[in-house]
Amino acid sequence: MYRTLSGKEPAEALILQVKRKSGKLDYTPTLGIILVGGDNASQIYVNTKVKKAAGAGIKTHIHKLPEKIPEGELLGLIDKLNEDEHVDGFIVQAPLPKHIDSLRVIERIDPKKDVDGWTSVNMGRMFLGMDSFLPATPAGVIRMLEYYDVKLEGKHAVVIGRSNIVGKPLATLLLGKNATVTVCHSKTKNLSEYTKTADILISAVGMPGLVKGNMVKRGAIVIDVGITKVGATIKGDVEFDEVIKNADCSPVPGGVGPMTVAMLLNNVVEAAERKVGK
Ligand code: NAP
Repeated sequence: MYRTLSGKEPAEALILQVKRKSGKLDYTPTLGIILVGGDNASQIYVNTKVKKAAGAGIKTHIHKLPEKIPEGELLGLIDKLNEDEHVDGFIVQAPLPKHIDSLRVIERIDPKKDVDGWTSVNMGRMFLGMDSFLPATPAGVIRMLEYYDVKLEGKHAVVIGRSNIVGKPLATLLLGKNATVTVCHSKTKNLSEYTKTADILISAVGMPGLVKGNMVKRGAIVIDVGITKVGATIKGDVEFDEVIKNADCSPVPGGVGPMTVAMLLNNVVEAAERKVGK
């Protein structure tokens, strides 16, 4: 009776739009991907981005760097990509090794090429409601809600997680859609008191089993951003089998993940359009 909010269909629809837009350009847009170290999960995400980009008419160049690369060398590569007119946009795949200052690295990216939307310029513009590259995961969640015709205005949206790349920007985008937003985090007391009042509940923590069936209001919309590798499987934050008995819920895998990739590709084609003045 309640809906499984798959991310696959809205992601495919968006990728089709991206392909149409890239087909109207006089050249093939290019996405650069910097991958530092041998993190397995990161390599899998990068492979997915490469595959989906090809399907959307976007070229990719992967720059694989060793785990122990000095920060200065990574910054040097970023400077090069900033200047390279053949690169429309590029990303630095997270997470970075501990010896590297992630914020300094992100800030080095030219905001015009920051297709992850993580620089302070793009985040700041988003915060002010100005035109910007939106961070892919939060924008993907909003797009998914729109695809399933979920009305946000006047609704109580509860976001669990306040990271710079998911929770905080997501709260900002929800506010921009006139939702009333509550943000919870690791220091929130009595989490379920908040989650039970949510019309829209979004969990972005990375803790399997955090959101249980009895923490969700009947008829709510639940979006699970969490991704945790447990043995050979991938788990979200939400106990899907319990929650779906009372609420619409996105699965993991096959929920927000595909939307994130599609939104990134949308940003790449937008960067290319801006470059040629479209
Ligand atoms: P993060 O930087 O580690 O942030 C996690 C957030 O969860 C923090 O704000 C933390 O609070 C909060 N938290 C931790 N324990 C909590 C608890 N017991 N109750 C309530 N809040 C708690 O992670 P992230 O980068 O935002 O990513 C979050 C999850 O989404 C991860 O599983 C990640 O893999 C996944 N993800 C998925 C996609 C996708 O495409 N589907 C994209 C990005 C990330 P504090 O701030 O107080 O520490």
